[in-house]
Amino acid sequence: MSQQNKIIIITAPSGAGKTSITHYLLNKYPLLAFSVSAATRQPRDGEQDGKDYHFMSAEAFEEKITAKAFVEWEMVYEGKYYGTLKSELERIWTEGKTPVLDIDVHGAVHVQQKYPNDSLSIFIEPPSMDELKKRLQSRGTESAESLAARVNKASFEISFSHHFNKSIINDDLQKACAEAEQMITNFLGW
Ligand code: 5GP
Repeated sequence: MSQQNKIIIITAPSGAGKTSITHYLLNKYPLLAFSVSAATRQPRDGEQDGKDYHFMSAEAFEEKITAKAFVEWEMVYEGKYYGTLKSELERIWTEGKTPVLDIDVHGAVHVQQKYPNDSLSIFIEPPSMDELKKRLQSRGTESAESLAARVNKASFEISFSHHFNKSIINDDLQKACAEAEQMITNFLGW
Protein backbone atom coordinates (compact mmCIF):
# COMPACT_ATOMS: atom_id res chain seq x y z
CA MET A 1 0.00 0.00 0.00
CA SER A 2 1.49 3.32 -0.98
CA GLN A 3 1.87 6.23 1.37
CA GLN A 4 -1.28 7.99 0.22
CA ASN A 5 -3.65 5.02 0.58
CA LYS A 6 -5.45 6.03 3.75
CA ILE A 7 -8.88 5.06 5.06
CA ILE A 8 -11.36 7.07 7.12
CA ILE A 9 -13.82 4.97 9.13
CA ILE A 10 -16.93 6.58 10.56
CA THR A 11 -18.72 4.22 12.88
CA ALA A 12 -21.59 4.44 15.36
CA PRO A 13 -24.78 2.75 16.39
CA SER A 14 -27.56 3.20 13.83
CA GLY A 15 -29.25 6.58 14.47
CA ALA A 16 -26.27 8.30 16.10
CA GLY A 17 -25.97 10.64 13.11
CA LYS A 18 -22.98 9.19 11.31
CA THR A 19 -24.61 9.44 7.90
CA SER A 20 -25.23 13.21 8.32
CA ILE A 21 -21.62 13.72 9.39
CA THR A 22 -20.36 11.60 6.50
CA HIS A 23 -22.42 13.63 4.00
CA TYR A 24 -21.10 16.88 5.41
CA LEU A 25 -17.50 15.69 4.99
CA LEU A 26 -18.03 14.35 1.47
CA ASN A 27 -19.70 17.56 0.33
CA LYS A 28 -16.92 19.70 1.68
CA TYR A 29 -13.89 17.67 0.55
CA PRO A 30 -13.85 16.42 -3.06
CA LEU A 31 -10.75 14.33 -2.27
CA LEU A 32 -12.84 12.19 0.10
CA ALA A 33 -15.02 9.55 -1.56
CA PHE A 34 -17.83 7.45 -0.11
CA SER A 35 -17.01 3.75 -0.04
CA VAL A 36 -20.14 2.11 -1.46
CA SER A 37 -20.73 -1.10 0.49
CA ALA A 38 -22.36 -4.26 -0.76
CA ALA A 39 -25.63 -5.05 1.06
CA THR A 40 -28.42 -7.60 0.86
CA ARG A 41 -31.24 -5.54 2.42
CA GLN A 42 -33.97 -3.98 0.28
CA PRO A 43 -33.26 -0.45 -1.01
CA ARG A 44 -35.19 2.25 0.87
CA ASP A 45 -37.18 4.88 -1.05
CA GLY A 46 -34.77 7.13 -2.88
CA GLU A 47 -31.75 4.87 -2.51
CA GLN A 48 -29.84 4.07 -5.68
CA ASP A 49 -27.97 0.92 -6.53
CA GLY A 50 -24.27 1.68 -6.97
CA LYS A 51 -24.54 5.00 -5.14
CA ASP A 52 -25.91 4.19 -1.68
CA TYR A 53 -25.06 0.49 -1.76
CA HIS A 54 -24.28 -2.21 -4.26
CA PHE A 55 -27.53 -4.05 -3.58
CA MET A 56 -27.32 -7.78 -4.24
CA SER A 57 -28.85 -11.13 -3.34
CA ALA A 58 -27.52 -13.18 -0.42
CA GLU A 59 -26.27 -15.74 -2.99
CA ALA A 60 -24.27 -13.13 -4.88
CA PHE A 61 -22.87 -11.81 -1.59
CA GLU A 62 -21.84 -15.29 -0.46
CA GLU A 63 -20.06 -15.85 -3.77
CA LYS A 64 -18.04 -12.72 -3.10
CA ILE A 65 -17.18 -13.97 0.40
CA THR A 66 -15.85 -17.18 -1.16
CA ALA A 67 -13.91 -15.18 -3.75
CA LYS A 68 -12.34 -13.13 -0.90
CA ALA A 69 -13.65 -9.93 -2.44
CA PHE A 70 -14.26 -8.21 0.92
CA VAL A 71 -11.99 -6.24 3.23
CA GLU A 72 -14.61 -6.99 5.89
CA TRP A 73 -18.20 -8.15 5.96
CA GLU A 74 -20.81 -8.64 8.67
CA MET A 75 -24.31 -9.88 9.08
CA VAL A 76 -25.24 -6.54 10.64
CA TYR A 77 -28.92 -7.43 11.12
CA GLU A 78 -30.51 -10.86 11.17
CA GLY A 79 -30.20 -12.27 7.67
CA LYS A 80 -28.76 -9.05 6.15
CA TYR A 81 -25.18 -8.93 4.97
CA TYR A 82 -23.13 -5.75 4.58
CA GLY A 83 -19.53 -5.59 3.40
CA THR A 84 -16.70 -3.37 2.19
CA LEU A 85 -15.41 -4.49 -1.20
CA LYS A 86 -11.66 -4.47 -1.85
CA SER A 87 -12.45 -3.28 -5.38
CA GLU A 88 -14.22 -0.22 -3.96
CA LEU A 89 -11.19 0.90 -1.94
CA GLU A 90 -8.89 0.24 -4.92
CA ARG A 91 -11.15 2.27 -7.21
CA ILE A 92 -11.08 5.24 -4.84
CA TRP A 93 -7.33 5.08 -4.24
CA THR A 94 -6.74 4.86 -7.99
CA GLU A 95 -8.64 8.15 -8.32
CA GLY A 96 -6.16 9.65 -5.84
CA LYS A 97 -8.88 9.99 -3.19
CA THR A 98 -9.40 8.75 0.36
CA PRO A 99 -12.32 6.39 1.02
CA VAL A 100 -14.79 7.17 3.82
CA LEU A 101 -16.39 4.03 5.24
CA ASP A 102 -19.74 4.38 7.03
CA ILE A 103 -19.85 0.95 8.67
CA ASP A 104 -20.95 -0.78 11.86
CA VAL A 105 -18.65 -1.13 14.88
CA HIS A 106 -17.59 -4.73 14.21
CA GLY A 107 -16.66 -3.95 10.61
CA ALA A 108 -14.82 -0.86 11.85
CA VAL A 109 -12.76 -2.93 14.31
CA HIS A 110 -11.81 -5.33 11.49
CA VAL A 111 -10.75 -2.63 9.04
CA GLN A 112 -8.74 -0.98 11.77
CA GLN A 113 -6.95 -4.25 12.53
CA LYS A 114 -6.11 -4.69 8.84
CA TYR A 115 -4.85 -1.14 8.36
CA PRO A 116 -3.58 -0.10 11.80
CA ASN A 117 -1.30 2.68 10.52
CA ASP A 118 -3.29 3.92 7.56
CA SER A 119 -6.78 4.20 9.00
CA LEU A 120 -8.45 6.77 11.23
CA SER A 121 -11.53 5.47 13.04
CA ILE A 122 -14.05 7.91 14.48
CA PHE A 123 -16.84 6.68 16.75
CA ILE A 124 -19.97 8.84 16.83
CA GLU A 125 -21.84 8.54 20.08
CA PRO A 126 -25.51 9.49 20.49
CA PRO A 127 -26.13 11.87 23.43
CA SER A 128 -28.41 9.26 25.06
CA MET A 129 -30.37 6.10 24.30
CA ASP A 130 -33.64 8.09 24.48
CA GLU A 131 -32.38 10.52 21.88
CA LEU A 132 -31.21 7.68 19.66
CA LYS A 133 -34.64 6.04 19.82
CA LYS A 134 -36.30 9.36 18.94
CA ARG A 135 -34.04 9.83 15.93
CA LEU A 136 -34.71 6.34 14.62
CA GLN A 137 -38.46 6.83 15.08
CA SER A 138 -38.51 10.20 13.34
CA ARG A 139 -36.66 8.72 10.36
CA GLY A 140 -39.86 6.76 9.75
CA THR A 141 -38.08 4.04 7.79
CA GLU A 142 -38.09 1.32 10.43
CA SER A 143 -40.79 -1.16 11.36
CA ALA A 144 -41.44 -1.63 15.11
CA GLU A 145 -39.43 -4.83 14.95
CA SER A 146 -36.49 -3.30 13.12
CA LEU A 147 -36.54 -0.29 15.47
CA ALA A 148 -36.35 -2.56 18.52
CA ALA A 149 -33.48 -4.53 16.94
CA ARG A 150 -31.55 -1.33 16.21
CA VAL A 151 -32.08 0.06 19.73
CA ASN A 152 -30.95 -3.21 21.32
CA LYS A 153 -27.91 -3.41 19.14
CA ALA A 154 -27.02 0.22 19.83
CA SER A 155 -26.69 -0.18 23.57
CA PHE A 156 -24.22 -3.02 22.99
CA GLU A 157 -22.32 -1.09 20.33
CA ILE A 158 -21.82 1.94 22.57
CA SER A 159 -19.66 -0.26 24.79
CA PHE A 160 -17.16 -0.47 21.87
CA SER A 161 -16.34 3.23 21.77
CA HIS A 162 -12.92 2.82 23.39
CA HIS A 163 -11.71 0.61 20.49
CA PHE A 164 -11.50 3.55 18.13
CA ASN A 165 -8.93 6.28 17.54
CA LYS A 166 -11.39 9.09 18.25
CA SER A 167 -14.84 9.55 19.69
CA ILE A 168 -17.36 12.36 19.22
CA ILE A 169 -20.60 12.87 21.16
CA ASN A 170 -23.20 14.03 18.69
CA ASP A 171 -25.32 16.36 20.84
CA ASP A 172 -24.98 19.17 18.30
CA LEU A 173 -24.61 18.12 14.66
CA GLN A 174 -22.73 21.22 13.54
CA LYS A 175 -20.21 20.86 16.35
CA ALA A 176 -19.81 17.13 15.69
CA CYS A 177 -19.18 17.82 11.97
CA ALA A 178 -16.52 20.41 12.83
CA GLU A 179 -14.80 18.01 15.24
CA ALA A 180 -14.74 15.20 12.68
CA GLU A 181 -13.40 17.61 10.05
CA GLN A 182 -10.56 18.68 12.33
CA MET A 183 -9.60 15.07 13.10
CA ILE A 184 -9.60 14.07 9.43
CA THR A 185 -7.69 17.06 8.11
CA ASN A 186 -5.05 16.48 10.80
CA PHE A 187 -4.80 12.79 9.96
CA LEU A 188 -4.48 13.46 6.23
CA GLY A 189 -2.09 16.37 6.73
CA TRP A 190 -4.41 18.82 4.92
P1 5GP B 1 -28.54 0.72 7.00
O1 5GP B 1 -29.34 -0.53 6.79
O2 5GP B 1 -29.20 1.66 7.98
O3 5GP B 1 -28.14 1.40 5.70
O4 5GP B 1 -27.15 0.29 7.66
C1 5GP B 1 -27.14 -0.49 8.78
C2 5GP B 1 -25.77 -0.51 9.39
O5 5GP B 1 -24.85 -1.21 8.55
C3 5GP B 1 -25.17 0.86 9.59
O6 5GP B 1 -24.58 0.90 10.89
C4 5GP B 1 -24.12 0.94 8.52
O7 5GP B 1 -23.07 1.80 8.89
C5 5GP B 1 -23.66 -0.48 8.47
N1 5GP B 1 -22.92 -0.79 7.25
C6 5GP B 1 -23.09 -0.26 6.02
N2 5GP B 1 -22.20 -0.76 5.15
C7 5GP B 1 -21.43 -1.63 5.86
C8 5GP B 1 -20.32 -2.45 5.52
O8 5GP B 1 -19.83 -2.50 4.40
N3 5GP B 1 -19.80 -3.21 6.51
C9 5GP B 1 -20.28 -3.20 7.78
N4 5GP B 1 -19.67 -3.96 8.66
N5 5GP B 1 -21.32 -2.43 8.13
C10 5GP B 1 -21.90 -1.65 7.19
